[in-house]
Amino acid sequence: MFERCAADGADLVSLHHQDAVRYLFCPSCSMAVLVLGGNRLRYRYRKGDLFLLDPDDDRALPHLDPFRDAIARFVRTGQSFEPFCSRDGGRVPILAEAERVKLVWCASCRLGTAYVARLGYGWTVAGTFGLEEDGSKYSVRDYRGPDDMYALIESAVTGLPKPA
Ligand SMILES: [Zn+2]
Ligand SMILES: [Zn+2]
Repeated sequence: MFERCAADGADLVSLHHQDAVRYLFCPSCSMAVLVLGGNRLRYRYRKGDLFLLDPDDDRALPHLDPFRDAIARFVRTGQSFEPFCSRDGGRVPILAEAERVKLVWCASCRLGTAYVARLGYGWTVAGTFGLEEDGSKYSVRDYRGPDDMYALIESAVTGLPKPA
């Protein structure tokens, strides 16, 4: 799910993704990565500005303002919570929520998505969950969140009321 920062190994946040263009940011060391197809340009984000660390690429120019804005917004508020299915991107209802965990359920995928609130990141997808074969309870399917939050997610998922 997460790409790691080359500098410190922290999870990168994806702030924008359209076709082959991606805006990635490391909340831990303020490295910003602009992905333009096969080319990656690294910047250091400091005091609202981007300082290029790699050889320049003309195609980067139109992205600098929106990239700066996206980072500034993220630094202010973190990723806000949007109840989307992580498989098909559809808006889905919230099944349960606690202070640092939100569980949503997509009826068409028959798959749940678990979100966790992480310091410095805001709400990020931690994994998916589904129904046991006999339909009696939910269990974690694919976990890709931080290791220290697995137990919390698992107990939230297995503690969900039995599906109707
Ligand atoms: Zn970093
Ligand atoms: Zn879905």
